Amino acid sequence: MVWDSPDILPRDAWFRRTWQECAWQDPATTPVLLTRWQELTLWEAAIEATTRDVLLNAHATASAASEAWRLLHAWPKPSGDESLAFDTSLSDRFGFDQSVFDQSGFDQSVYTRAFFSWMRSVREELHGRRWITMAELPWALRERLAASGAADMQGQITLAGFDEIATADRRLFEALGAREAASHSRTTRSGVNHVTRAVCHDTAGELTQAAVWARHKLEAHSGAAPLRLGIIVPGLGSVATIGERVFDDILHPTQGFKEGQRAFAISEGESLAEAQMIAAALLTLRLIEKVPREEAAMIWRSPFLGVDPGEGARLDIELRRQKVESASLRVESVKRRFPEMSADAATLPARLRPSQWSAVFSRLLRLAGWPGTRTLSPAENRTLESWKDLLSELARLDVVLPSISRGGAIARLERMAGGTRLARDGENAPVQILDIEEAAGSRYDALWIAGLHAGAWPQRAQPNSFLPLALQRAAGMPHSSPEREVSYAARVTELLFHSATEIVCSFPAHAADEEQRPSPFLAALPLLPELPRPDTAMRRVFSLAPALEARPAEEQVPLPAGTPQRGGTRVLADQSACPFRAFAVHRLRAREMDEADVGLSALERGSVVHKALELLWRELQTQARLKALPPEELESLIRSCADRALGQFVSRQESSRALDRFRKLEQSRLEVLLRKWLEVESDRPNFVVIQNENAQTVDAAGLKLDIRVDRIDRYNDGTHAIIDYKTSKDVSTNMWQGERPEAPQLPLYATTSVVPVSEVAFAQVATTSVAWKGLHGSDLREQLPAWDAVVRKLAGDFLNGRAEVDPRQKPDPCSLCKLSALCRVTELRKLPAGEDGDE
Ligand code: SF4
Repeated sequence: MVWDSPDILPRDAWFRRTWQECAWQDPATTPVLLTRWQELTLWEAAIEATTRDVLLNAHATASAASEAWRLLHAWPKPSGDESLAFDTSLSDRFGFDQSVFDQSGFDQSVYTRAFFSWMRSVREELHGRRWITMAELPWALRERLAASGAADMQGQITLAGFDEIATADRRLFEALGAREAASHSRTTRSGVNHVTRAVCHDTAGELTQAAVWARHKLEAHSGAAPLRLGIIVPGLGSVATIGERVFDDILHPTQGFKEGQRAFAISEGESLAEAQMIAAALLTLRLIEKVPREEAAMIWRSPFLGVDPGEGARLDIELRRQKVESASLRVESVKRRFPEMSADAATLPARLRPSQWSAVFSRLLRLAGWPGTRTLSPAENRTLESWKDLLSELARLDVVLPSISRGGAIARLERMAGGTRLARDGENAPVQILDIEEAAGSRYDALWIAGLHAGAWPQRAQPNSFLPLALQRAAGMPHSSPEREVSYAARVTELLFHSATEIVCSFPAHAADEEQRPSPFLAALPLLPELPRPDTAMRRVFSLAPALEARPAEEQVPLPAGTPQRGGTRVLADQSACPFRAFAVHRLRAREMDEADVGLSALERGSVVHKALELLWRELQTQARLKALPPEELESLIRSCADRALGQFVSRQESSRALDRFRKLEQSRLEVLLRKWLEVESDRPNFVVIQNENAQTVDAAGLKLDIRVDRIDRYNDGTHAIIDYKTSKDVSTNMWQGERPEAPQLPLYATTSVVPVSEVAFAQVATTSVAWKGLHGSDLREQLPAWDAVVRKLAGDFLNGRAEVDPRQKPDPCSLCKLSALCRVTELRKLPAGEDGDE
């Protein structure tokens, strides 16, 4: 006993295959069917040719224009409508009523006029080249099958699962004698399905409730046949990511599922461009041109390029240090990482045919080591297959495109990847999450329909702006009028209410920043009883809260005796600001990533001022010489010191015009600053510079620190001034006060100095202010014992390994500290206080 397997195809696939059969039978007269991307390229060319002077995104507009073209053919205007009179110079095609191409009907607006001119040029191209688009197939097939005899080509055709059949399709199927399958509605024995409604706070709440409902259903199911649950979410694409997280959390609280064993499947998968493997491939290809450094970091860290994670991180750091704004295969360190790819890319011509680019991209990625050396998962293998298909699609553009630039080819490939949805996974999962348009004809044991608020269901009428409104309404095109939306929504709702024996309809009380009412279709439905919340991973963690125990702070790890300590006076400044910061920076060597701005960072600009002052005083040596120097010689000295100081820092960066401009600006700023500062120095008592950025080692309560005092001057009476240059605008002697001083450097120098000190001072050399801010004489003498105690305490704490997260109250060091991801201070501050006030 045998019978034929039914030949079941989606609509578009049937059309494509049938046209292919026509082409095999009569290749000479059968126009070539364009692929979606070939057709879009045709529209792009027409749009770019006619609207050069208008700001318009041709790629996005091409999609909209192609949709208008599809609507025109799918929903032809009813014959005999004189208001849309016909006059076209183009010959008739496929028996399609050409009167829609009448210019007068398209005079309605700037959009319809523009579309008409694009359409004219696309039609001419299609006629001239003997091409055909998918939109025209119903008409072309009707003509072709009528001529050849439908029975020769087709067996009995049955249409099933359509919510709505477009006019053009209907006429074709009628000509072929197709029959429409009766809709197999599911009803309870009593013939009445159980339909309830649920009110949720927002869309995320709806998804959560739907997931909870699905979990209860799955847990309660005991039948032998697998359960099939449907979750319909209108506009699923925009909430698919939240949906995935919510359903994972509720259906898989232990996250213990294996690939392919998830209890749910989301039909609206990510686009090919969003898949990690493809995103890495596209970014890597963009290295032929350039990639912003932040984005390029994804390449170095991608598991699909076989880059060792440590090596990748080092490359990122290196590019930051070199202040490389855009990574490309021309940057030396990137070239070293991808030697073969760089060598190959260097030989590429500027323009090639799409099929040649397709081969080049494949080759370059192979040379870059993509898709890596590890074994790919089944899902990754499917993604890889989709990528190969995409490259074939690119190659097929040869038909419609002569040659394109490499930047253009990559951008086109990116757009194509963005417009390609990854093949759906998990068709056998018990919970199917899908958009409302995909639900047609589906049958479930139970169904949840979300998003049914009054503003969304029935949908708002949204006529196509490229087509005359009268034409759309006369032809009954989708979304052309409110009446049509209401009757469409009523029909689909009726079908959905019969596609399962139990149905829940939910709506969000808040959506699109507005309060929402339920859709009129839900008005009379009873409310769904509230479901108990099942365990989720999060709830499980928090349910353990009473069992959490307090743990004492980690034991301190003292610095082993005799360990040389790098970091100079920053060690004490950091210990004073926050013990954790001192430990992390000076013992764990944590440091923030460099920012790759053009020019110098604030820190580097301060260092340039320090360097310029060091160079100046190396030349001048004494205040007397400063005063005696002729003005023009002093000017030339200032200029040369500023230039040499800047040169040391700027030369570390990649040269660019922006950098040249920055250097000129910085040079003049520096000269002004030095000039003003030397005026302050001239007003001081007579002095000789005896130390200028000299390195030395000091012992602070057993902590040996290598320090570099900015300057020590000797006055005529044999006493000394210790000077610390400051380039920030907020500088005050208060920074030396308290048990946790903001700037303990000068207190350290003063208390460990081997020469008699009569003054300590900040030399403030900032654009906003130049000033001498110090303490001297008896004020200083009285202060020294307190400073000695503070320095000893800070040094002792560091030596003992005191490392708790305890930032100073004022000024708060956290605002300028980049370690918050390591110390988790933000999370600590958010912890609620316990009953006794403890955190
Ligand atoms: S962010 Fe604040 S608490 Fe964290 S290490 Fe820095 S200063 Fe300390």
